Amino acid sequence: MTLPFRTLDDADVKDRRVLLRVDLNVPVEDGRISDTTRIERILPTIREISEKGGKTILLAHFGRPKGATWDERRSEADSLHAVAQELTRLLTRPVLFIADCIGEEAAKAIAGLRNGEVALLENTRFHPGEEANDPDFAAALAANGDLYVNDAFSAAHRAHASTEGIAHLLPSYAGRAMQAELAALTAGLESPRKPLMAIVGGAKVSTKLELLGNLVAKVDMLVIGGGMANTFLAARGHNVGKSLCEKELLETAREIETKARNAGCEIVLPVDAVVAREFRANPPHREVAVDDVADDEMILDAGPHTAALVKAKLTGIRTLVWNGPFGAFELEPFDRTTVVVAQAAAMLTKAGTLVTVAGGGDTVSAMNHAGVTDDFTYVSTAGGAFLEWMEGKPLPGVEALRR
Ligand code: AMP
Repeated sequence: MTLPFRTLDDADVKDRRVLLRVDLNVPVEDGRISDTTRIERILPTIREISEKGGKTILLAHFGRPKGATWDERRSEADSLHAVAQELTRLLTRPVLFIADCIGEEAAKAIAGLRNGEVALLENTRFHPGEEANDPDFAAALAANGDLYVNDAFSAAHRAHASTEGIAHLLPSYAGRAMQAELAALTAGLESPRKPLMAIVGGAKVSTKLELLGNLVAKVDMLVIGGGMANTFLAARGHNVGKSLCEKELLETAREIETKARNAGCEIVLPVDAVVAREFRANPPHREVAVDDVADDEMILDAGPHTAALVKAKLTGIRTLVWNGPFGAFELEPFDRTTVVVAQAAAMLTKAGTLVTVAGGGDTVSAMNHAGVTDDFTYVSTAGGAFLEWMEGKPLPGVEALRR
């Protein structure tokens, strides 16, 4: 598939200074990096640039520094220094750490880089111009490179200097991690094999209104699960007892159903539920039809008939886009429907009949919990950017890479 974006295939990096925007916002616990997934994802792009004789200069933000000036924003806790050490270890080659991302010191250090070498610039967010997308700051960043490669899809929904402003100042390309993400998203919603199903679950309708509105216009079937299904069930007149339910959104839920009907999108709601009186792991619970929930009960998962229904529908589907769990999957046994449906989707993906793209927020941990992450076509770890993409919004950092 040819993507409508410029990629590393279009770039000539030999002898050039390549400013590579990456996501190094790794979790740190007790001063130690607790998960290196984000670092590992960018290694192929760095290695490729090095092997092709380019000089890689990494640009990244870290944490959420606050303040009006560099002095106020700079802190050891938000420095990328420790990340440079971890990157050196994982890359198995030295990574030069440069203590500012613009200015004379950075320019001097970069001028000393030889072909194939790698440097990491200090946290772009130490400068207020980063989040403000200040043109002067973007120009100062651009001064350190001959071309720009963006490998940070997870930051692409923000129009910041290092994700968007700079892309207008230098020849710009998608790195390999960004390219994989864009290929998956294109196969998921942009030009999917049809029929296309979306599963949307999670806690609340209110956080996913735009997403639902966009999806009903695009997908053939929308399966609604999680706490948000309760609002739709209530809007259809079911008693949802003490379940999580946004009563003020009943009319909105009806409007979404109408919009779906007009667009030819089938909405699938749970037909049964697993209910309990306490929100904790393994409380006394029972499986009931959705019109049999007692006043003092909470729906904490969709039931086995719903899982079977969705599994049956999946056999006729060619593409599945998934965000949000069917139930309170962190608490057993309310993970069941999420796990059963995810595993069925994984089997169909392995058999080659289904393309599966999942992501956003808790969905990654739900898919990890179901053990399907490696079998799905793509599981995106980008939270906000994935959701904005599902909402149909153009992502500034991606748009800047269009051919
Ligand atoms: P979200 O971040 O919107 O995808 O929501 C994920 C959260 O929704 C998870 O923490 C689940 O525990 C929660 N959730 C899913 N279904 C239910 C439910 N029926 N009742 C309460 N919480 C739920």
